[in-house]
Formats: sequence, C-alpha cells, structure tokens
Amino acid sequence: MTRPNILLVVADDHAANAVGCYGGPHAVTPRIDTIAADGMRFTQCGCTNSLCAPSRATILTGTYNHVNGVTTLSTEFDARQPAFPELLRDAGYRTALIGKWHLGHGGVHDPRGFDHWEVLPDQGDYHDPTFLTMDGGSHVRPGYATDLITDLSLDWLGSVESADEPWCLLVQHKAPHRPWEPAPRHAELTFESAGSPPDTFHDDYAHPATAARDARMRVARDLNLEDLKEDPPLDVVADPAAYAGWALDRYLTDYLRCVVAVDEGVGRLLDHLDETGQADDTVVVYTSDQGFFLGEHGWYDKRFMYTESLQMPLLVRYPRLVAPGSESDALVLNVDFAQTFLDLAGVPAHDRMQGRSLAPLLAGQEPGDVGWRESAYYRYWEHLDGCHHVAAHRGVRTRDRKLVHYYGSGCGQPGASGDETPEEWELFDLADDPQELHSVHDDPAYADDLARLRAELDALATSLGDTIPTSTPTHTKEIV
Ligand code: CA
Repeated sequence: MTRPNILLVVADDHAANAVGCYGGPHAVTPRIDTIAADGMRFTQCGCTNSLCAPSRATILTGTYNHVNGVTTLSTEFDARQPAFPELLRDAGYRTALIGKWHLGHGGVHDPRGFDHWEVLPDQGDYHDPTFLTMDGGSHVRPGYATDLITDLSLDWLGSVESADEPWCLLVQHKAPHRPWEPAPRHAELTFESAGSPPDTFHDDYAHPATAARDARMRVARDLNLEDLKEDPPLDVVADPAAYAGWALDRYLTDYLRCVVAVDEGVGRLLDHLDETGQADDTVVVYTSDQGFFLGEHGWYDKRFMYTESLQMPLLVRYPRLVAPGSESDALVLNVDFAQTFLDLAGVPAHDRMQGRSLAPLLAGQEPGDVGWRESAYYRYWEHLDGCHHVAAHRGVRTRDRKLVHYYGSGCGQPGASGDETPEEWELFDLADDPQELHSVHDDPAYADDLARLRAELDALATSLGDTIPTSTPTHTKEIV
C-alpha cells in the first residue's frame, strides 16, 4: 500500500461540546464534521494531562509527561527526544509544522524533525501575529492567526506535493484559546446555543473535593474585561444570576466565533486535498490538545480530570482503511497518536513510546477483540498555579468509573506553589452520574470498586514508570 500523507490538525482548547458531530449543544463545525462522516469518530479519547504544552509533548513523543519532562506550563520541552515527525522524516517523509508550538524556543527547545516550520511564539497573537522561522528570525504577518496558519500550510503543501515522497503536516491552531478574539468577518456572528447555560452551570460544588470549590475558573466570577471585551450592561451588574448568564453568553459567543474560523480553515485544507486528488491517500486527523469547560460546572478552562476537560475530540479520515461514518468507544489517549502515525506509515515506533497504534480500531476491530486498554491513567501536575489554582491530582478511568486523587502538595514538582491542600479522593459512577456531580467515594456500596480502582491507579503508575505521590497529612481546611 502507498505510504499515506498525514495531515494532523490540532486546535487549542476545542471542546467536544463545540464539535457538531459530538452531539453537544454547539453545532458550529460543518466542515470538521465531514471528517467524522467520511471516517471515524472516537467518543472516548482523553488526554493524559489537561494542559496545552504537556499534551503537545505527549502527542509528539508518544510518552507520558513524567517521561517527556513537560509536566506543567513552566517545564520546557527538549526537542532532541524521539518524536514521530523526525522518525517519519528519517523514513523519507517531507515534514512541516505550522502554527502553535508552545514548547519553548531557542536551542534544544525549537521544533525538530521538520523540513520546515513556522510557529507562533508561545501563545501567539490572534491579530497580526509574529511568527518565528527556522533561520532564527521572526516576522509579523498581517491578518488573522487562524487564516494565516491555514495559508502557510497550503503554501507548504504546494511546495512538496509534486515530489515523490509522502508528506506529514502538523497544522496547530492557537484558536480557540483564551482570550477568544474572533476574525473581523465573524465579529457579529451570534449563536442561539450561547444563551443556554448547560445543566451543571449552577453547580454548587457541594459534592466533590475541595479542589473544585477552590478553582478560579468560574464564568460568573473569574472572567476579566480582556475575556469579556466589554463592561456588563447596567441591568445585570446588580443581579448575580443575570450577570452569570450574560458572562457565559459573552464568553461562548467569542469562543464559538473563533471555532468557526478553525472550521473554515479545515474546510480549505479538505478542499485542497480533493482538488489535488490526494484525499484517498491522506490520513486526516482533527483533534484538540485537550477539552474545555463551556460553562459546565460553572467553569471555563480545563485542567481537571472531569469529562469536559479530559475529553479530546478525535476524528480520523483515511478512505483506504477507515469506513465512513464509523465510531469507536475505545479508551484511547493522546499518547497513542505518535505510534498510530508511524504504524500507518510503516515506520517502527521508538522503544520509548508508551502508547499504542489505533490502526486496528481504525480498521474496524472492536476494542475487546484487540485487547485494548480497559483503564486509562491521568495526572495533572501543576499545583495551585497563580491563575486557576487547581490542585495537582492523578486518577484512573474505566468505561463506567472514574477515581481521582488530589494528593496534597505539589510534592516538589515544577509548578508547585508549596502550598498544602488536603489529600482527597473522588469516585464517580459514570453510568449513573455522567455529569460527575456526586462522588460516591464514601458510599459503602462502592467499596469494592474503590479498592479495585485504587490498586489499578497505582499499578498503572508503576507500569508507566511514574512515581506514586506521597500524600501530605490530611488537615482541616476552612470551607468558604
Ligand atoms: Ca490547550
């Protein structure tokens, strides 16, 4: 079989609830949805650490963050470590990266393994962004970041498509990351769904661990003027409920406007594959570095192991292997992507990689028939960062249960503030409580589940080579 081209589009903070084919409230992605219609939709893809840089390091290297070293936003990536783009290039692929890199700059932190790259510095800007180039320079490109990233991607494709070698292109958008600045042409778009708060918008955080109550990512309280773009109208200022609804609408409207531009960019790439006759021989993957809260639990942002933040949209189109309109509920992870691309290209994975190729699932095999993982490991390392103040935690999920362990202090890890927080556990019955509103950790009916999952969590950490955090003594904490 011909070695396929690989087009990987990674959005930033694009929640499954804002990808139409996932059936959520915000159906604003008609072009992205065609990837699912023509290929496979994964319903249970998760990240291993819901944060931008760590997820990107995992995608590139096929390793967990304790192996690739990018545990938090303040830990830079050493790009000399094995990663799938360089392995593909060594095997004869032409490779490029356009857009957000977010893994450090200069020396060993620059992108590596690419014939060509042009990236935003750190988060980059939405309007007239600066791009860094391979020669060590930088330049400002006038226009809107999402459009420019697509333009540059198409330019590069035009430069390599006449060659005999297959290509691998990583299109990494900064959108729809905060502060959600839309393209001028979308500045007046409105969405009915932005005015409807999700069921859990008024979560009182009575059920779960202290971490949820202490997090600073509430739509009704923590969005600032840069996020909201305008002062609230007078009639909502004095009414907390009205203010919350107004802030959610304002936030979601700009978020969805940014998503619309990403969808248009994906459409242009898909059109190009059609027009150049490459659609059948190109693996097209659409994903996001992690999920995002779109008002669920009253929040924006990510970090937590709760579903909206954990789940990554993952759509794969490859007509030579994947049946149109197919679906997989296997517990897949961002750590699997690198080995998938290498496998589809016929290139051996590096021994250090810790995931598993999705190829058998893409070919239509059932998870049980291929012995797919029945539990997935998670660890959020950054402890009480200055902005969102989420406690470090680790956890394990299965198809119907999720165990989360807030293990106390940051255990000396990078990003730790040194503050102590209580050691706490949450256990959710995902079948009965998919919105994760009621921890059953202390319910005797779940004692067997709890024991089994606690053992599974430690077994996974050990098998993956992660340390098991030693917990700090539990102490009472004033609840505000
Ligand atoms: Ca992100």
